[in-house]
Amino acid sequence: MICPDEKCTGCGACVSICAKKAIILKEDLYGSLRPFVDSEKCINCGLCKKVCPNNQNLSFSKVKKVYVAYSFDKSVYNKAASGGIASELYKIAIKNNWFSMGTCFDRHTGVFYKEVKDVYDLDWACSSKYVYSNMLPAFNCYCEHLSKNEYAIFIGLPCQCAALYSYLNLKNKKFTENLFLVNIICHGVPNWKFLDEHLDFIEKKSEKRISKIFFRSKTADESHRGGNSYDYHLRCISDDSQEFYICDMHKKESYGNAFLSNLIFRENCYSCSYAKPERFCDLTIGDYDGLGCEVEYNNPVKQVSCVLCYTEKGNVLVKELKESCYLENRPLPEPFKYNGQLNYPSVPHKNRGKFKNSYLQTENFEYAVKKSLIREMYFSFNLFSTAKQFIKNNFKFVYAIYKKFKKIGGCR
Ligand SMILES: Cc1cc2nc3c(=O)[nH]c(=O)nc-3n(C[C@H](O)[C@H](O)[C@H](O)COP(=O)(O)OP(=O)(O)OC[C@H]3O[C@@H](n4cnc5c(N)ncnc54)[C@H](O)[C@@H]3O)c2cc1C
Repeated sequence: MICPDEKCTGCGACVSICAKKAIILKEDLYGSLRPFVDSEKCINCGLCKKVCPNNQNLSFSKVKKVYVAYSFDKSVYNKAASGGIASELYKIAIKNNWFSMGTCFDRHTGVFYKEVKDVYDLDWACSSKYVYSNMLPAFNCYCEHLSKNEYAIFIGLPCQCAALYSYLNLKNKKFTENLFLVNIICHGVPNWKFLDEHLDFIEKKSEKRISKIFFRSKTADESHRGGNSYDYHLRCISDDSQEFYICDMHKKESYGNAFLSNLIFRENCYSCSYAKPERFCDLTIGDYDGLGCEVEYNNPVKQVSCVLCYTEKGNVLVKELKESCYLENRPLPEPFKYNGQLNYPSVPHKNRGKFKNSYLQTENFEYAVKKSLIREMYFSFNLFSTAKQFIKNNFKFVYAIYKKFKKIGGCR
């Protein structure tokens, strides 16, 4: 065993380091990609165990500075998941001739890493894809560029940043010197198999083929989470560029609801070693939770990012970002108070066991989610606010009943 099963992130560092090509990533019953070793090809060199970030003592850094941030470029900001900081970092890489890769959605193969060469590539690289992303192509590409003394930036989930660093460090310690590592705050990834089955279901129902999907957009009502609200809708775009499906992920969107309720992540996400205030990166980016509700924030731009700077290299990136982004220094503990993912891994939904059993028995994702999330999907209204709204809308009627009851009470 390369690392404990429940810790495997499916990064593929072991696959990439193996000179004998003895390891491949294969799906388990839930679609989690895991390494399988061909014992006939394996020469027991031990490199796979050595490269696995789960077997390493990585040195995590303490945060130095915290910023609220968003891109001044409206075309970047509008397409981005939150403040468009990742896209601005790609623009810095393009300007300076640094190598970089981003995640690309493909309806057949899932989400995978691909080189970002120019600003047109930001179209597919931007925005959050809430699913496992395959970083296998990244190991060799980064190694090739960094071995030529070029600079490179990697923007990825915390487990992916650790995997890339660990791979490069094992190849040659010098390869990590020119690498900027940027963590995306993450609360977990579901397997591609689940999203694939869900998209199949939508396609069958609508008789359309999906070419693009979006989980986040800047179109919805900004009021539901107080000050800064992030919009979670699954939107599907067809081959002929029509938006034919849009559904609120907090409501009847089965995949979206299962994602936001911590029901369907890979097993390793629930004991993630990277979900803590100290991090293994130069910069961390994510949503800035709590602004405008828990803490004062009067800027009219509400869907903004937090940028956490951990190292001197991170500081170099912040200086570059200042040219294209709004950056406001904030007090240090602030984001850690309101963004749980900066402190601890996601807690599994109480019906996760039910979901797993049901999925194994039926192999039907829709059924297994609906069975496990009845309350969240069908009874997800707040009794108090519903009653308040009813009284507001039917004031005369409610007042008449109130008067009638008062009269009856008075007769007694
Ligand atoms: C699976 C997942 C879970 C997340 N959970 C949280 C959370 O709990 N709390 C929080 O504050 N923020 C979370 N985020 C981060 C948040 O959604 C935004 O991605 C982040 O704030 C960056 O926004 P941006 O506007 O700067 O990025 P953009 O400019 O929109 O660029 C998006 C960046 O994210 C990368 N990316 C997108 N999908 C993936 C993926 N599946 N795997 C690896 N990289 C990917 C892209 O390649 C690109 O670099 C999560 C993101 C992902 C992908």
